[in-house]
Amino acid sequence: MTQNQLGVHALVLEREWDTAAAVRAVRTAAGLGYDLVELPMFAPDAIDLATVRRALDETGLAVTCSLGLPFDRDISSADPDVAAAGEALLAGVVDAARSVGAEVVAGVIHSAMGKHPRPATERNWEAAAEGLARVADRAAGSGTRLALEVVNRYESNLVNTAATCAALIDAIGRDNVVVHLDTYHMNIEERSPAEAVAACGGRLGYVHVGESARGYLGSGSVDLAGLLRALHHVAYAGPITFEAFSRNRVTPELAATLSLWRDIWDDPEDLAAHALATLRAGLRATEARVAGDGAGHRGELATGGAASSTPSGPASP
Ligand code: MN
Repeated sequence: MTQNQLGVHALVLEREWDTAAAVRAVRTAAGLGYDLVELPMFAPDAIDLATVRRALDETGLAVTCSLGLPFDRDISSADPDVAAAGEALLAGVVDAARSVGAEVVAGVIHSAMGKHPRPATERNWEAAAEGLARVADRAAGSGTRLALEVVNRYESNLVNTAATCAALIDAIGRDNVVVHLDTYHMNIEERSPAEAVAACGGRLGYVHVGESARGYLGSGSVDLAGLLRALHHVAYAGPITFEAFSRNRVTPELAATLSLWRDIWDDPEDLAAHALATLRAGLRATEARVAGDGAGHRGELATGGAASSTPSGPASP
């Protein structure tokens, strides 16, 4: 049985972001029973890393870091200065991750996060691959992995499917770069959770679960059970982190970046507690179902075999 760390994104719990908010998020996540908290690193110097690390140590909570690149620091940009600025931002985040004790830097770190006015070019692909290879080398020095988040077409023009992400990781050519899947985005771009997970080709390293309108798990069209079965099938043992956003619970800047125009929920602790209970129940149900399926499958095959031999029976010897 795999034991995934279950996490929550800190901005589910906090609206503004500073050291006090980060410490509160760590304590709230631990109090709710989560194993891990994901810290936003849009601006690594927004929080005092030593203070946050003390809070993490006190609670025993694991930590990851994430961000989406801004357009003026897009590592995939054809403009070398913009790409270099993106690479510099990621280098700083890798250092911050090490300071705070995180082994994963996740998110939209392959291109600018937002709606792009045109398709990505070969040049964008090469810029991202070359820049991320250098960032990955820096991260390898501290045992940190880069998890490239597969996001929908309105949030990146470069990586919209697991298959594309796996191809980009091939181009980067570093072992410490992994695929980061998110059910909210998969629900828009992928044919099924099973196909998306399979397309990662063993390189899945981080998972976000979010509902189709970014609210309570189970309130939308995301196939959480299908995802958990697919993760079980590939023996995924990495973190599963809950993410949800509502206009009234984020800053106007983040609302604009993520196109959050509606108030979906307003009690973060209730939402996060519900998500943790839903994930735990889902993982238990997956274990039970897979165990049952094993037996059921054998039964089904036997029945299917018998059934299919019946019509052909008269023609068979
Ligand atoms: Mn996500």
